[in-house]
Amino acid sequence: MAGITKATPLDRVLGAAAKKLSKHRGLETVGDLLDFLPRRYVDARRMGELAEFSRGEHVVLVANVVSATTRPMRQRRGKMLEAVVEDGQGERVSLVFFSAYGHETRLRPGVRALCRGELQTYRQSWQLAHPDYVLLDDEDEGDVYRDGLVPLYKTVKQVSDLNLTKAMRLIFEQLDLGPDPVPQELREQHDLVTQAEAYRMLHLPADLAEVERARHRLRYDEALVVQTVLAQRRAKSRSEQSTPRLATPGGLLAAFDEQLPFVLTAGQKVVAEEIAADMAGEHPMHRLLQGEVGSGKTVVALRAMLAAIDSGAQAALLAPTEVLAQQHERSIRALLGSLGQRGMLGGDDRGTQVALLTGSMTKKQREKVLLDIVTGPVGIVVGTHALIEKNVMFADLGLVVVDEQHRFGVEQRDALRDKAIRAPHLLVMTATPIPRTVAMTTFGDMDTSTLSELPKGRQPIATHVVPALDRPAWLTRAWEKVAEEVAEGHQAYVVCPRIGDEPVDDPELTALERMWNAADSEGDEPEDEAPLRPMRGVLEVLDDLRQRPELRGLRVEMLHGRLPAEEKDAVMAAFTRGEIDVLVATTVIEVGVDVPNATVMVLMDADRFGISQLHQLRGRVGRGEGGGLCLLVTESENEASLDRLHRVAATTDGFALADLDLELRREGDVLGASQSGRRSQLRLLRLTHREDIALIEQARTDATDLVTKDASLMSWPGLEAMVGERLDETQAAFLERG
Ligand code: ADP
Ligand code: MG
Repeated sequence: MAGITKATPLDRVLGAAAKKLSKHRGLETVGDLLDFLPRRYVDARRMGELAEFSRGEHVVLVANVVSATTRPMRQRRGKMLEAVVEDGQGERVSLVFFSAYGHETRLRPGVRALCRGELQTYRQSWQLAHPDYVLLDDEDEGDVYRDGLVPLYKTVKQVSDLNLTKAMRLIFEQLDLGPDPVPQELREQHDLVTQAEAYRMLHLPADLAEVERARHRLRYDEALVVQTVLAQRRAKSRSEQSTPRLATPGGLLAAFDEQLPFVLTAGQKVVAEEIAADMAGEHPMHRLLQGEVGSGKTVVALRAMLAAIDSGAQAALLAPTEVLAQQHERSIRALLGSLGQRGMLGGDDRGTQVALLTGSMTKKQREKVLLDIVTGPVGIVVGTHALIEKNVMFADLGLVVVDEQHRFGVEQRDALRDKAIRAPHLLVMTATPIPRTVAMTTFGDMDTSTLSELPKGRQPIATHVVPALDRPAWLTRAWEKVAEEVAEGHQAYVVCPRIGDEPVDDPELTALERMWNAADSEGDEPEDEAPLRPMRGVLEVLDDLRQRPELRGLRVEMLHGRLPAEEKDAVMAAFTRGEIDVLVATTVIEVGVDVPNATVMVLMDADRFGISQLHQLRGRVGRGEGGGLCLLVTESENEASLDRLHRVAATTDGFALADLDLELRREGDVLGASQSGRRSQLRLLRLTHREDIALIEQARTDATDLVTKDASLMSWPGLEAMVGERLDETQAAFLERG
């Protein structure tokens, strides 16, 4: 056989086992198998300790056979074998086989075996029924583990760990991985083993130190791939030409600043300068603006738009939902006042026009707006995805602002950018605090600005957990509190995790459940959990609240994604005007809804929401001067869930919560749109581990150097190949978010 490469199909190397690996674990090539890393290692030279395990657990134990008895079975034909093994401390467990055949000649007193199986009790003694085992002193089998460490893999039906290690020995004899992805210079500089060595050290380790070195190397690989792609993207956007967009003295921006009813915070000023400097450049701005809800991003973005208009261009603001687009349009109009009504009665001649473009507009309305955009009187267009459509043309698009980035993909952003003559400047706003490591990976091709202080006068939100089962009186108190706030002229939100009428596979429901599941499944092999109690729905809660004595006389209405668009708008408008006291809603209110008079939020089944989402949601209250109150109602008795809620209640620091969120979830869930792929997106790299943060930073520097020297990567074929390979299968999904 010729040399084995990563692309070699497994069935050419392994025969029958290849089918099982394909069927049960989706492994098709040698490369797939190499990436199927052992989950842990057992030292075959050291006797095990049964005491480390409890009943029902999967046991991996090195033990000596002390007796073996074969006897006929009562109910069936054939003989059974019971072999008793003793661990390092003299504890015993029986290995039971209901067909002795084949085992009786092997499991003889005196031999040492590595046994695996589920620990059960039978007549008050420990038992493993039909365990897997390997004879460690056996010439053939024991030799497979001659170096002492036994790699343990995720279970693959009908393929034992022993089979896998044998397969690895075979593969490594002829493996040729081609040029190493990490250039030799960098390997030497960082004292990294080669990729081939790394794989060998993980699958056929001599000791645990090797395992560590190998993991370090592969983590670096993961970081380097991502950072190389990002460095390429940065280089590309830096090579693009853009038109500088500067505010003119005495122009629209200056007029706006003059009439602004407040002064910008120090943070807003710094960010405004960063943006102005970017937009003055020859290359397109590529900036991420992050800041808590209410930190004043919109004003900052609007000032950038006005600078663009001053320079003769137009600006587009892309919002993820219709409700949000409308709200942006309203608040931009309000901030601009007469400066937003140029050419109209009472309009200011230094001003411009603002237009809204959404999918639900009539054809006639759309056509009028489209014409105004292409001929030029409209300086600011606010819209949803409708903005991206082909028939939308601009006179001269100079700035694109994208709100709530995580809901748009790269293609959509690019589609909008393509409507400009030269690459427009791009400002992305996000209210979801992004941990630095995620920012470095997911948004690594952008410069970032952060608004970390809230404008003056803002009161922090107080959050409390209401355990509804334990303390029903607290829930009653919560509704009383809502009534008290309303009595003082304020309004309240009640948020539910679902609508309540959905068929089982409703996307809104399953998305939430997926999130919930992702947040709570830590182990690699999820165990079957008890079915969850159905979540509170808007419809049910609306009925309940309308009947509650505590809320008698209050105007309670609902809002959710499946109401007709006009009804949604009407409800939102009525709530904004203060004609609704209590709004029962799904997470449709999550982003951007801005009613400063709303001061209380009650979150039903709060344990069903993710940490970042809870934080995002509670940002909807306390936008006025009255401060805000958020009540997290839960019936959960799960300690981890309660702990999560208490931690959300304990801090309003969105960045701390984002880190916590990341800690509790798996990276794949944070970065990727879906986890459905057979591998998680980052296999070894942990965005929350301190040493990995350093590694990502190192890789970022290295990647930038490499790309500066040769952006095509042709000088490093190994790296080029790894980037191509990984980009296809694992990274594309999360780069899409950048
Ligand atoms: P974000 O978009 O970050 O959620 P907004 O820009 O909508 O925040 O600002 C929230 C509210 O605070 C708005 O009503 C806005 O007018 C007001 N605001 C913004 N900047 C300031 C400031 N520097 N001082 C006082 N109020 C401000
Ligand atoms: Mg906003």
